[in-house]
Amino acid sequence: MIEIKNVSKTFNQRTGGTFTAIDNVSLSIKKGEFLSLLGPSGCGKSTLLNLVAGLEHAQQGTITVNGKPCNTPGPDRVVVFQEHALFPWLTVLDNVAFGLKQKGIPKKQREEMALEQIKSVHLSRFADRYPHELSGGMKQRAAIARALAMDPEILLMDEPFAALDEQTRLILHKELEEIWMRTKKTILFITHNIREAVILSDRVLVMSTRPGTIKKEFNVQAARP
Ligand code: ADP
Ligand code: ADP
Repeated sequence: MIEIKNVSKTFNQRTGGTFTAIDNVSLSIKKGEFLSLLGPSGCGKSTLLNLVAGLEHAQQGTITVNGKPCNTPGPDRVVVFQEHALFPWLTVLDNVAFGLKQKGIPKKQREEMALEQIKSVHLSRFADRYPHELSGGMKQRAAIARALAMDPEILLMDEPFAALDEQTRLILHKELEEIWMRTKKTILFITHNIREAVILSDRVLVMSTRPGTIKKEFNVQAARP
């Protein structure tokens, strides 16, 4: 469903010249697949995710979702970022309902839809709280609920659990796995944590420290119970 073909992305440097962040990468992601992109900081993971999200543009190559080019953000792809994802001036309910409001869904209906997603991430008791009243794990649950409320085909997750303590992270792994099983979303998940990649994914792509190339690929599904 996601086809990335011979994609290269360079950035102009402040000092002049260009920097290649993604160098001729090709890959396909199947519908319903949970794919992790693993690699050290600076290897180009976020850049690749932002290209799929339509937030960045490649100088070379093509990226399509269901055959359609994705050079602008679309309702079929929603990003969950590491942090700062929620509007601090809105409650959890209003944060989760925000995108539905943009879509023009009437208030009563969008609040019902938002509350359903809030329930699915076990935050019902906190629907009326503001982000600063929540723990890190709860904020990420709310960000996931907000993404799910838009019912995208694809969830793009950029190190969503990297800022959390180990115990919270393990709980959220279980919850994300449940969400994936239940919703059958296609998930592109970025991490620099190999355990996280192996625990969560069907398939792991390892990006090289030399920016922008995929070095290895392995399936983990077969190895899981
Ligand atoms: P990762 O997500 O693997 O940590 P990034 O995709 O964020 O890596 O970055 C890859 C490389 O591209 C890094 O060296 C980073 O500094 C550079 N880069 C990312 N975004 C920009 C930008 N907007 N302008 C210039 N360089 C950038
Ligand atoms: P992460 O490591 O979480 O991927 P970064 O700290 O690399 O995030 O990047 C944060 C933001 O800054 C991103 O939007 C990225 O595109 C941008 N960025 C990263 N490196 C550079 C750079 N050298 N010049 C300009 N913008 C950059």
